[in-house]
Amino acid sequence: TIGKTFDLTAEKYPAKEAIYDVRRGIRLSYADWQKEVNKLANAFLEAGVKKGDRISTYLFNTIELATAYFASAKIGAVINPINFRLKAQEVAYILNDAKPSIVLFERALEPQISEIQSQFDQISFWFIDSEPPSYASSYHDNVKDTKNNLEEIEVTENDLYAIMYTSGTTGRPKGVLHRHRDMIEQNHVCIASKRLTKDDRGLVAAPMFHCAELHCCFLPRVQAGGSNVILHHFEPELVLQLIEEEKITVFFGAPTMWNMMLQEKIETYNLTSLRLGLYGAAPMAPALVKLCKEKLGTDLIQAYGMTEMGPAVTFLSEDEQLTKAGSAGKVCYGHELRIVKPNEDGPSEPDDILPPGQVGEIIVKGPCMMAGYFNMKEESEKALYKGWYHSGDLGYLDNDGFLYVADRVDDMIISGGENVYPREVEDILFEHSGVLDAAVLGQPHEKWGECVTAFIVRKDLNLTEEELEEFCKTSDKLAPYKRPRTYHFVDALPRTASGKIQKFLLREKLAEQPS
Ligand code: AMP
Ligand code: MG
Repeated sequence: TIGKTFDLTAEKYPAKEAIYDVRRGIRLSYADWQKEVNKLANAFLEAGVKKGDRISTYLFNTIELATAYFASAKIGAVINPINFRLKAQEVAYILNDAKPSIVLFERALEPQISEIQSQFDQISFWFIDSEPPSYASSYHDNVKDTKNNLEEIEVTENDLYAIMYTSGTTGRPKGVLHRHRDMIEQNHVCIASKRLTKDDRGLVAAPMFHCAELHCCFLPRVQAGGSNVILHHFEPELVLQLIEEEKITVFFGAPTMWNMMLQEKIETYNLTSLRLGLYGAAPMAPALVKLCKEKLGTDLIQAYGMTEMGPAVTFLSEDEQLTKAGSAGKVCYGHELRIVKPNEDGPSEPDDILPPGQVGEIIVKGPCMMAGYFNMKEESEKALYKGWYHSGDLGYLDNDGFLYVADRVDDMIISGGENVYPREVEDILFEHSGVLDAAVLGQPHEKWGECVTAFIVRKDLNLTEEELEEFCKTSDKLAPYKRPRTYHFVDALPRTASGKIQKFLLREKLAEQPS
Protein backbone atom coordinates (compact mmCIF):
# COMPACT_ATOMS: atom_id res chain seq x y z
CA THR A 1 0.00 0.00 0.00
CA ILE A 2 1.01 3.63 -0.37
CA GLY A 3 1.09 4.02 3.42
CA LYS A 4 3.30 0.99 3.91
CA THR A 5 5.81 2.02 1.24
CA PHE A 6 6.05 5.43 2.87
CA ASP A 7 6.95 3.83 6.21
CA LEU A 8 9.46 1.52 4.53
CA THR A 9 11.24 4.52 2.99
CA ALA A 10 11.16 6.40 6.30
CA GLU A 11 12.68 3.45 8.14
CA LYS A 12 15.33 2.95 5.50
CA TYR A 13 16.42 6.60 5.20
CA PRO A 14 15.37 8.27 8.48
CA ALA A 15 17.96 11.05 8.37
CA LYS A 16 17.71 11.85 4.69
CA GLU A 17 16.07 15.08 3.61
CA ALA A 18 12.59 14.10 2.51
CA ILE A 19 10.79 17.32 1.82
CA TYR A 20 11.38 21.05 1.58
CA ASP A 21 8.47 23.48 1.37
CA VAL A 22 9.99 26.55 -0.23
CA ARG A 23 7.34 29.10 0.78
CA ARG A 24 7.23 28.03 4.40
CA GLY A 25 10.95 27.40 4.60
CA ILE A 26 10.40 24.01 6.25
CA ARG A 27 12.79 21.13 5.66
CA LEU A 28 12.08 17.70 7.10
CA SER A 29 13.99 14.43 7.23
CA TYR A 30 12.06 11.24 6.51
CA ALA A 31 11.90 10.46 10.25
CA ASP A 32 10.44 13.89 11.04
CA TRP A 33 8.06 13.85 8.11
CA GLN A 34 6.81 10.43 9.20
CA LYS A 35 5.91 11.96 12.57
CA GLU A 36 3.95 14.71 10.80
CA VAL A 37 2.14 12.13 8.70
CA ASN A 38 1.23 10.14 11.81
CA LYS A 39 0.05 13.23 13.65
CA LEU A 40 -2.25 14.15 10.79
CA ALA A 41 -3.48 10.55 10.52
CA ASN A 42 -4.34 10.66 14.23
CA ALA A 43 -6.10 13.99 13.78
CA PHE A 44 -8.20 12.47 10.99
CA LEU A 45 -9.07 9.52 13.25
CA GLU A 46 -9.98 11.83 16.12
CA ALA A 47 -12.27 13.74 13.76
CA GLY A 48 -14.07 10.47 13.12
CA VAL A 49 -12.66 9.54 9.71
CA LYS A 50 -13.04 5.82 9.05
CA LYS A 51 -11.59 3.48 6.51
CA GLY A 52 -13.13 4.15 3.09
CA ASP A 53 -14.15 7.72 3.97
CA ARG A 54 -13.04 10.43 1.59
CA ILE A 55 -10.75 13.34 2.43
CA SER A 56 -10.80 16.19 -0.09
CA THR A 57 -8.06 18.74 -0.61
CA TYR A 58 -8.41 22.09 -2.34
CA LEU A 59 -4.84 23.22 -2.04
CA PHE A 60 -1.91 24.58 -3.95
CA ASN A 61 1.38 22.68 -3.60
CA THR A 62 2.16 22.65 0.10
CA ILE A 63 3.80 20.39 2.63
CA GLU A 64 0.34 19.84 4.13
CA LEU A 65 -0.95 18.43 0.85
CA ALA A 66 2.08 16.14 0.58
CA THR A 67 1.50 15.00 4.16
CA ALA A 68 -2.22 14.46 3.62
CA TYR A 69 -1.63 11.96 0.80
CA PHE A 70 0.22 9.62 3.14
CA ALA A 71 -1.82 10.29 6.28
CA SER A 72 -4.98 9.45 4.37
CA ALA A 73 -3.41 6.34 2.81
CA LYS A 74 -2.22 5.02 6.18
CA ILE A 75 -5.70 5.03 7.70
CA GLY A 76 -7.34 3.62 4.57
CA ALA A 77 -9.17 6.84 3.74
CA VAL A 78 -9.55 7.84 0.10
CA ILE A 79 -7.82 11.05 -0.91
CA ASN A 80 -9.66 13.37 -3.28
CA PRO A 81 -7.42 16.15 -4.56
CA ILE A 82 -9.43 18.97 -6.14
CA ASN A 83 -8.07 21.33 -8.77
CA PHE A 84 -7.39 24.69 -7.09
CA ARG A 85 -8.52 26.48 -10.24
CA LEU A 86 -12.09 25.22 -9.98
CA LYS A 87 -14.82 27.70 -9.14
CA ALA A 88 -17.20 27.37 -6.18
CA GLN A 89 -19.98 25.53 -8.03
CA GLU A 90 -17.53 23.12 -9.64
CA VAL A 91 -16.10 22.32 -6.22
CA ALA A 92 -19.65 21.87 -4.87
CA TYR A 93 -20.35 19.34 -7.64
CA ILE A 94 -17.36 17.26 -6.59
CA LEU A 95 -18.13 17.49 -2.87
CA ASN A 96 -21.70 16.39 -3.55
CA ASP A 97 -20.43 13.43 -5.51
CA ALA A 98 -17.47 12.34 -3.35
CA LYS A 99 -19.12 13.20 0.01
CA PRO A 100 -15.89 13.62 1.97
CA SER A 101 -15.70 13.83 5.78
CA ILE A 102 -13.08 16.56 5.73
CA VAL A 103 -11.96 19.21 3.26
CA LEU A 104 -8.51 20.74 3.62
CA PHE A 105 -8.47 24.06 1.82
CA GLU A 106 -6.13 26.91 1.22
CA ARG A 107 -7.14 30.16 2.86
CA ALA A 108 -6.56 32.08 -0.36
CA LEU A 109 -9.44 30.02 -1.77
CA GLU A 110 -11.79 30.89 1.09
CA PRO A 111 -14.16 33.01 -1.07
CA GLN A 112 -15.07 29.89 -3.07
CA ILE A 113 -15.49 27.80 0.06
CA SER A 114 -17.65 30.41 1.83
CA GLU A 115 -19.97 30.43 -1.15
CA ILE A 116 -20.79 26.73 -0.76
CA GLN A 117 -19.92 25.74 2.79
CA SER A 118 -23.49 26.07 4.10
CA GLN A 119 -24.62 23.29 1.73
CA PHE A 120 -22.32 20.84 3.47
CA ASP A 121 -23.20 20.51 7.17
CA GLN A 122 -21.70 17.04 7.39
CA ILE A 123 -18.24 18.11 6.25
CA SER A 124 -15.51 19.62 8.45
CA PHE A 125 -13.52 22.31 6.69
CA TRP A 126 -9.91 22.77 7.83
CA PHE A 127 -8.03 25.72 6.38
CA ILE A 128 -4.35 26.18 5.77
CA ASP A 129 -2.82 29.57 5.26
CA SER A 130 0.33 29.29 3.22
CA GLU A 131 0.58 33.06 2.84
CA PRO A 132 3.46 34.53 4.87
CA PRO A 133 3.73 35.84 7.50
CA SER A 134 0.54 34.64 9.22
CA TYR A 135 0.48 30.91 8.44
CA ALA A 136 -2.63 30.64 10.62
CA SER A 137 -4.24 27.29 10.24
CA SER A 138 -7.09 25.30 11.72
CA TYR A 139 -5.36 22.28 10.23
CA HIS A 140 -2.40 22.86 12.51
CA ASP A 141 -4.67 23.51 15.49
CA ASN A 142 -6.17 20.07 14.92
CA VAL A 143 -2.81 18.38 14.54
CA LYS A 144 -0.84 20.13 17.25
CA ASP A 145 -1.63 17.79 20.17
CA THR A 146 -1.96 14.46 18.40
CA LYS A 147 0.50 11.59 18.86
CA ASN A 148 3.30 11.10 16.40
CA ASN A 149 3.05 7.35 16.34
CA LEU A 150 0.13 5.54 14.78
CA GLU A 151 -1.56 2.28 15.62
CA GLU A 152 -1.53 0.06 12.60
CA ILE A 153 -4.78 0.04 10.64
CA GLU A 154 -5.32 -2.79 8.22
CA VAL A 155 -5.31 -1.52 4.66
CA THR A 156 -4.93 -3.91 1.73
CA GLU A 157 -3.59 -3.39 -1.77
CA ASN A 158 -7.10 -3.70 -3.17
CA ASP A 159 -8.51 -0.91 -1.03
CA LEU A 160 -9.12 2.44 -2.68
CA TYR A 161 -6.39 5.02 -2.37
CA ALA A 162 -7.73 7.96 -4.38
CA ILE A 163 -10.64 9.44 -6.22
CA MET A 164 -9.53 11.99 -8.78
CA TYR A 165 -11.95 13.99 -10.87
CA THR A 166 -11.02 14.31 -14.52
CA SER A 167 -10.72 17.78 -15.95
CA GLY A 168 -14.04 17.34 -17.72
CA THR A 169 -13.51 19.60 -20.70
CA THR A 170 -16.55 17.79 -22.06
CA GLY A 171 -19.42 16.63 -19.90
CA ARG A 172 -19.43 16.48 -16.14
CA PRO A 173 -16.32 15.50 -14.19
CA LYS A 174 -15.95 11.81 -13.44
CA GLY A 175 -14.38 10.45 -10.25
CA VAL A 176 -11.58 8.10 -11.24
CA LEU A 177 -11.02 5.41 -8.60
CA HIS A 178 -7.53 4.06 -7.96
CA ARG A 179 -6.51 1.29 -5.58
CA HIS A 180 -3.25 1.15 -3.65
CA ARG A 181 -1.97 -1.61 -5.90
CA ASP A 182 -2.50 0.51 -9.06
CA MET A 183 -0.34 3.25 -7.60
CA ILE A 184 2.42 0.93 -6.41
CA GLU A 185 2.62 -0.49 -9.93
CA GLN A 186 2.71 3.06 -11.32
CA ASN A 187 5.54 3.85 -8.90
CA HIS A 188 7.53 0.89 -10.20
CA VAL A 189 6.96 1.87 -13.81
CA CYS A 190 8.07 5.46 -13.14
CA ILE A 191 11.06 4.51 -10.96
CA ALA A 192 12.29 2.20 -13.72
CA SER A 193 11.58 4.50 -16.66
CA LYS A 194 13.30 7.47 -15.02
CA ARG A 195 15.92 5.39 -13.20
CA LEU A 196 15.04 7.14 -9.93
CA THR A 197 17.23 6.57 -6.88
CA LYS A 198 17.47 7.91 -3.34
CA ASP A 199 19.88 10.54 -4.68
CA ASP A 200 17.29 12.16 -6.89
CA ARG A 201 15.98 15.56 -5.95
CA GLY A 202 12.74 16.55 -7.59
CA LEU A 203 11.15 19.95 -7.89
CA VAL A 204 7.37 19.86 -7.58
CA ALA A 205 6.08 22.89 -9.50
CA ALA A 206 3.32 21.37 -11.62
CA PRO A 207 0.09 21.08 -9.64
CA MET A 208 0.20 18.23 -7.14
CA PHE A 209 -3.53 17.61 -7.34
CA HIS A 210 -2.98 16.30 -10.87
CA CYS A 211 -1.78 12.76 -11.45
CA ALA A 212 1.05 13.74 -13.81
CA GLU A 213 2.99 15.36 -10.96
CA LEU A 214 1.53 13.28 -8.14
CA HIS A 215 1.71 9.75 -9.55
CA CYS A 216 4.56 10.02 -12.04
CA CYS A 217 6.92 12.17 -10.01
CA PHE A 218 6.17 12.82 -6.35
CA LEU A 219 4.98 9.38 -5.15
CA PRO A 220 7.63 7.33 -7.00
CA ARG A 221 10.32 9.67 -5.71
CA VAL A 222 9.19 9.04 -2.14
CA GLN A 223 9.19 5.30 -2.73
CA ALA A 224 12.74 5.55 -4.10
CA GLY A 225 13.85 7.56 -1.04
CA GLY A 226 14.57 10.74 -3.00
CA SER A 227 13.82 14.32 -1.93
CA ASN A 228 10.98 16.60 -2.96
CA VAL A 229 11.23 20.36 -3.12
CA ILE A 230 7.71 21.77 -3.08
CA LEU A 231 6.95 25.00 -4.89
CA HIS A 232 3.58 26.59 -4.10
CA HIS A 233 2.86 27.14 -7.79
CA PHE A 234 4.77 27.38 -11.02
CA GLU A 235 6.88 30.48 -11.58
CA PRO A 236 9.42 30.04 -14.38
CA GLU A 237 12.14 32.21 -12.87
CA LEU A 238 11.86 30.62 -9.45
CA VAL A 239 12.01 27.15 -10.99
CA LEU A 240 15.30 27.95 -12.70
CA GLN A 241 16.67 29.50 -9.53
CA LEU A 242 15.66 26.47 -7.44
CA ILE A 243 17.11 23.98 -9.90
CA GLU A 244 20.43 25.72 -9.36
CA GLU A 245 20.19 26.29 -5.58
CA GLU A 246 18.65 22.97 -4.63
CA LYS A 247 20.64 20.90 -7.12
CA ILE A 248 17.50 19.47 -8.65
CA THR A 249 18.07 16.32 -10.72
CA VAL A 250 14.65 15.65 -12.21
CA PHE A 251 11.87 18.00 -13.19
CA PHE A 252 8.44 17.52 -14.71
CA GLY A 253 6.72 20.27 -16.62
CA ALA A 254 3.74 20.42 -18.91
CA PRO A 255 4.85 21.61 -22.38
CA THR A 256 3.61 25.12 -21.66
CA MET A 257 5.79 25.29 -18.52
CA TRP A 258 8.91 24.33 -20.47
CA ASN A 259 7.96 26.92 -23.06
CA MET A 260 7.73 29.62 -20.39
CA MET A 261 11.09 28.63 -18.93
CA LEU A 262 12.64 29.06 -22.37
CA GLN A 263 11.56 32.71 -22.33
CA GLU A 264 13.73 33.38 -19.25
CA LYS A 265 17.44 34.22 -19.21
CA ILE A 266 18.53 30.60 -19.03
CA GLU A 267 22.22 31.32 -19.64
CA THR A 268 22.46 33.01 -16.25
CA TYR A 269 21.60 29.86 -14.30
CA ASN A 270 23.76 26.84 -13.56
CA LEU A 271 21.49 23.92 -14.41
CA THR A 272 24.11 21.19 -14.58
CA SER A 273 22.53 19.17 -11.75
CA LEU A 274 19.44 18.52 -13.87
CA ARG A 275 19.83 15.08 -15.40
CA LEU A 276 16.32 14.54 -16.65
CA GLY A 277 13.34 16.58 -17.73
CA LEU A 278 9.95 15.02 -18.15
CA TYR A 279 7.00 16.32 -20.10
CA GLY A 280 3.54 15.05 -20.87
CA ALA A 281 -0.14 15.67 -20.17
CA ALA A 282 -0.39 17.46 -23.52
CA PRO A 283 1.46 17.35 -26.83
CA MET A 284 4.74 19.22 -27.20
CA ALA A 285 6.01 20.22 -30.62
CA PRO A 286 9.31 18.52 -31.55
CA ALA A 287 10.77 21.97 -32.34
CA LEU A 288 10.20 22.92 -28.70
CA VAL A 289 11.73 19.70 -27.35
CA LYS A 290 14.85 20.40 -29.38
CA LEU A 291 15.07 23.95 -28.11
CA CYS A 292 14.76 22.76 -24.49
CA LYS A 293 17.56 20.30 -24.94
CA GLU A 294 19.79 22.94 -26.51
CA LYS A 295 19.07 25.71 -24.04
CA LEU A 296 18.61 23.78 -20.79
CA GLY A 297 21.19 21.13 -21.59
CA THR A 298 19.01 18.41 -20.14
CA ASP A 299 17.62 15.23 -21.60
CA LEU A 300 13.88 15.32 -21.99
CA ILE A 301 11.63 12.31 -21.88
CA GLN A 302 8.02 12.28 -22.91
CA ALA A 303 5.28 10.38 -21.12
CA TYR A 304 1.80 9.67 -22.37
CA GLY A 305 -1.18 8.70 -20.32
CA MET A 306 -4.29 9.87 -18.58
CA THR A 307 -5.76 9.92 -15.08
CA GLU A 308 -7.71 6.73 -15.73
CA MET A 309 -4.53 4.85 -16.72
CA GLY A 310 -2.58 5.65 -13.61
CA PRO A 311 -1.52 7.86 -15.61
CA ALA A 312 1.68 6.98 -17.51
CA VAL A 313 1.63 4.07 -19.95
CA THR A 314 4.38 5.02 -22.40
CA PHE A 315 7.74 6.75 -22.07
CA LEU A 316 10.09 7.96 -24.79
CA SER A 317 13.61 7.70 -23.42
CA GLU A 318 16.40 10.26 -23.86
CA ASP A 319 18.22 8.44 -26.65
CA GLU A 320 15.00 7.92 -28.57
CA GLN A 321 14.04 11.61 -28.49
CA LEU A 322 16.16 12.27 -31.56
CA THR A 323 15.49 9.15 -33.59
CA LYS A 324 11.78 9.09 -32.78
CA ALA A 325 11.00 12.78 -32.40
CA GLY A 326 7.33 13.40 -31.76
CA SER A 327 6.62 9.89 -30.53
CA ALA A 328 5.34 9.27 -27.00
CA GLY A 329 7.47 6.11 -26.83
CA LYS A 330 6.87 2.44 -26.29
CA VAL A 331 4.42 0.94 -23.88
CA CYS A 332 5.70 0.46 -20.29
CA TYR A 333 6.45 -3.00 -19.03
CA GLY A 334 3.50 -4.96 -17.76
CA HIS A 335 1.22 -3.05 -20.14
CA GLU A 336 -0.29 -3.80 -23.54
CA LEU A 337 -1.32 -1.10 -25.96
CA ARG A 338 -3.35 -1.43 -29.14
CA ILE A 339 -4.62 0.85 -31.86
CA VAL A 340 -8.10 -0.25 -32.83
CA LYS A 341 -10.78 0.80 -35.25
CA PRO A 342 -12.98 3.46 -33.60
CA ASN A 343 -16.60 2.46 -33.27
CA GLU A 344 -19.21 5.19 -33.52
CA ASP A 345 -22.00 3.32 -31.75
CA GLY A 346 -20.15 2.14 -28.67
CA PRO A 347 -16.76 1.11 -27.32
CA SER A 348 -14.35 -0.04 -30.00
CA GLU A 349 -13.67 -3.76 -30.26
CA PRO A 350 -10.28 -4.70 -28.76
CA ASP A 351 -9.73 -7.21 -31.56
CA ASP A 352 -10.26 -4.73 -34.41
CA ILE A 353 -6.53 -4.04 -34.44
CA LEU A 354 -5.26 -1.60 -37.07
CA PRO A 355 -1.92 -2.05 -38.88
CA PRO A 356 1.08 0.21 -38.14
CA GLY A 357 0.74 3.71 -39.52
CA GLN A 358 -3.03 3.77 -39.34
CA VAL A 359 -4.72 6.15 -36.90
CA GLY A 360 -7.26 4.68 -34.50
CA GLU A 361 -8.28 4.68 -30.84
CA ILE A 362 -5.60 3.97 -28.25
CA ILE A 363 -6.66 1.22 -25.85
CA VAL A 364 -4.55 -0.08 -22.96
CA LYS A 365 -4.49 -3.04 -20.59
CA GLY A 366 -2.24 -3.09 -17.55
CA PRO A 367 -1.81 -3.13 -13.78
CA CYS A 368 -2.32 0.62 -13.20
CA MET A 369 -5.73 1.02 -14.84
CA MET A 370 -8.46 2.58 -12.70
CA ALA A 371 -10.97 0.43 -10.84
CA GLY A 372 -13.75 2.44 -12.50
CA TYR A 373 -15.60 5.73 -12.14
CA PHE A 374 -17.27 6.52 -8.83
CA ASN A 375 -21.03 5.97 -8.97
CA MET A 376 -21.03 5.57 -12.75
CA LYS A 377 -21.55 1.94 -13.53
CA GLU A 378 -22.43 2.30 -17.19
CA GLU A 379 -19.57 4.69 -18.01
CA SER A 380 -17.13 2.44 -16.15
CA GLU A 381 -18.18 -0.62 -18.11
CA LYS A 382 -17.88 1.27 -21.37
CA ALA A 383 -14.46 2.66 -20.51
CA LEU A 384 -13.14 -0.75 -19.40
CA TYR A 385 -14.94 -2.73 -22.11
CA LYS A 386 -13.59 -6.31 -22.39
CA GLY A 387 -10.80 -5.53 -19.92
CA TRP A 388 -9.22 -2.77 -22.04
CA TYR A 389 -9.24 0.86 -21.01
CA HIS A 390 -10.59 2.89 -23.93
CA SER A 391 -8.80 6.23 -23.97
CA GLY A 392 -10.77 8.25 -26.51
CA ASP A 393 -7.37 9.43 -27.78
CA LEU A 394 -6.35 8.91 -31.38
CA GLY A 395 -2.92 7.72 -32.35
CA TYR A 396 -0.91 5.24 -34.34
CA LEU A 397 2.04 2.91 -33.88
CA ASP A 398 4.99 2.93 -36.24
CA ASN A 399 6.66 -0.25 -37.50
CA ASP A 400 8.87 -0.38 -34.42
CA GLY A 401 5.96 -0.13 -31.98
CA PHE A 402 6.40 3.53 -31.06
CA LEU A 403 3.22 5.40 -30.23
CA TYR A 404 2.31 8.71 -31.87
CA VAL A 405 -0.57 10.46 -30.14
CA ALA A 406 -2.67 12.37 -32.63
CA ASP A 407 -5.52 14.10 -30.83
CA ARG A 408 -8.69 13.57 -28.90
CA VAL A 409 -11.31 11.92 -31.09
CA ASP A 410 -13.42 15.05 -30.65
CA ASP A 411 -10.68 17.45 -31.79
CA MET A 412 -10.10 15.87 -35.19
CA ILE A 413 -10.97 18.15 -38.10
CA ILE A 414 -12.62 16.78 -41.22
CA SER A 415 -12.05 19.13 -44.12
CA GLY A 416 -13.42 18.17 -47.51
CA GLY A 417 -13.61 14.57 -46.30
CA GLU A 418 -9.93 14.52 -45.31
CA ASN A 419 -8.88 14.01 -41.71
CA VAL A 420 -6.68 16.71 -40.26
CA TYR A 421 -5.02 16.16 -36.89
CA PRO A 422 -4.58 19.59 -35.28
CA ARG A 423 -1.35 18.48 -33.70
CA GLU A 424 0.42 17.98 -37.04
CA VAL A 425 -0.38 21.55 -37.98
CA GLU A 426 0.55 22.91 -34.54
CA ASP A 427 3.92 21.15 -34.75
CA ILE A 428 4.68 22.95 -38.02
CA LEU A 429 3.61 26.34 -36.68
CA PHE A 430 5.93 25.90 -33.70
CA GLU A 431 8.84 25.62 -36.14
CA HIS A 432 8.39 29.30 -36.95
CA SER A 433 10.64 31.33 -34.68
CA GLY A 434 8.03 34.09 -34.25
CA VAL A 435 5.46 31.69 -32.76
CA LEU A 436 5.27 31.37 -29.00
CA ASP A 437 2.16 29.22 -28.74
CA ALA A 438 -0.33 27.74 -31.17
CA ALA A 439 -3.67 25.96 -31.20
CA VAL A 440 -5.35 24.60 -34.30
CA LEU A 441 -9.00 23.72 -34.64
CA GLY A 442 -11.78 23.27 -37.13
CA GLN A 443 -14.14 26.01 -38.14
CA PRO A 444 -17.43 25.33 -39.89
CA HIS A 445 -17.08 25.91 -43.64
CA GLU A 446 -19.79 25.94 -46.28
CA LYS A 447 -17.86 24.08 -48.92
CA TRP A 448 -15.57 21.73 -46.96
CA GLY A 449 -17.64 21.11 -43.87
CA GLU A 450 -14.77 22.35 -41.76
CA CYS A 451 -11.64 24.30 -42.48
CA VAL A 452 -8.49 24.67 -40.43
CA THR A 453 -8.00 27.76 -38.32
CA ALA A 454 -5.13 28.70 -36.01
CA PHE A 455 -4.87 30.71 -32.81
CA ILE A 456 -1.38 32.11 -32.43
CA VAL A 457 0.47 33.76 -29.57
CA ARG A 458 3.30 35.72 -31.12
CA LYS A 459 6.82 35.97 -29.78
CA ASP A 460 7.45 38.54 -32.47
CA LEU A 461 4.58 41.01 -32.75
CA ASN A 462 5.55 41.92 -36.33
CA LEU A 463 4.64 38.45 -37.47
CA THR A 464 1.81 38.61 -40.03
CA GLU A 465 -0.79 36.23 -41.35
CA GLU A 466 0.82 36.38 -44.79
CA GLU A 467 4.15 35.32 -43.37
CA LEU A 468 2.64 32.32 -41.63
CA GLU A 469 0.69 31.40 -44.74
CA GLU A 470 3.91 31.50 -46.74
CA PHE A 471 5.70 29.45 -44.08
CA CYS A 472 3.05 26.73 -44.18
CA LYS A 473 2.98 26.76 -47.98
CA THR A 474 6.69 26.10 -48.19
CA SER A 475 6.65 23.36 -45.55
CA ASP A 476 7.09 19.96 -47.14
CA LYS A 477 5.13 18.36 -44.30
CA LEU A 478 1.79 20.06 -44.77
CA ALA A 479 -0.69 19.13 -47.49
CA PRO A 480 -2.70 22.12 -48.79
CA TYR A 481 -5.95 21.03 -47.11
CA LYS A 482 -4.20 21.02 -43.72
CA ARG A 483 -3.07 24.63 -44.04
CA PRO A 484 -4.85 27.12 -41.78
CA ARG A 485 -7.25 29.28 -43.78
CA THR A 486 -7.49 31.90 -41.06
CA TYR A 487 -5.32 33.05 -38.19
CA HIS A 488 -6.30 34.66 -34.91
CA PHE A 489 -3.60 36.48 -32.98
CA VAL A 490 -4.23 36.34 -29.22
CA ASP A 491 -2.30 37.27 -26.06
CA ALA A 492 -2.54 33.83 -24.49
CA LEU A 493 -4.27 30.50 -24.98
CA PRO A 494 -6.71 29.27 -22.33
CA ARG A 495 -5.25 26.25 -20.57
CA THR A 496 -6.21 23.87 -17.79
CA ALA A 497 -4.03 23.64 -14.70
CA SER A 498 -2.34 20.56 -16.18
CA GLY A 499 -1.42 22.50 -19.31
CA LYS A 500 -4.02 21.35 -21.81
CA ILE A 501 -5.40 23.90 -24.24
CA GLN A 502 -9.12 24.40 -23.59
CA LYS A 503 -10.18 24.16 -27.21
CA PHE A 504 -13.85 24.39 -26.32
CA LEU A 505 -13.25 27.97 -25.16
CA LEU A 506 -11.57 28.78 -28.47
CA ARG A 507 -14.50 27.20 -30.28
CA GLU A 508 -16.87 29.45 -28.35
CA LYS A 509 -14.75 32.41 -29.36
CA LEU A 510 -14.98 31.39 -33.01
CA ALA A 511 -18.74 31.00 -32.77
CA GLU A 512 -19.04 34.57 -31.49
CA GLN A 513 -17.15 35.99 -34.45
CA PRO A 514 -18.77 36.81 -37.77
CA SER A 515 -17.32 34.37 -40.31
P1 AMP B 1 -5.54 13.79 -17.78
O1 AMP B 1 -6.57 12.75 -17.53
O2 AMP B 1 -5.87 15.12 -17.21
O3 AMP B 1 -4.22 13.30 -17.37
O4 AMP B 1 -5.49 14.04 -19.35
C1 AMP B 1 -5.18 13.00 -20.23
C2 AMP B 1 -5.11 13.49 -21.65
O5 AMP B 1 -3.97 14.31 -21.88
C3 AMP B 1 -4.95 12.34 -22.62
O6 AMP B 1 -6.18 11.73 -22.90
C4 AMP B 1 -4.30 13.01 -23.82
O7 AMP B 1 -5.30 13.56 -24.65
C5 AMP B 1 -3.47 14.12 -23.21
N1 AMP B 1 -2.05 13.71 -23.15
C6 AMP B 1 -1.40 13.16 -22.12
N2 AMP B 1 -0.11 12.92 -22.43
C7 AMP B 1 0.07 13.32 -23.69
C8 AMP B 1 1.18 13.33 -24.61
N3 AMP B 1 2.38 12.89 -24.26
N4 AMP B 1 0.96 13.81 -25.85
C9 AMP B 1 -0.26 14.27 -26.21
N5 AMP B 1 -1.33 14.29 -25.41
C10 AMP B 1 -1.18 13.83 -24.16
MG1 MG C 1 -8.88 13.05 -18.63
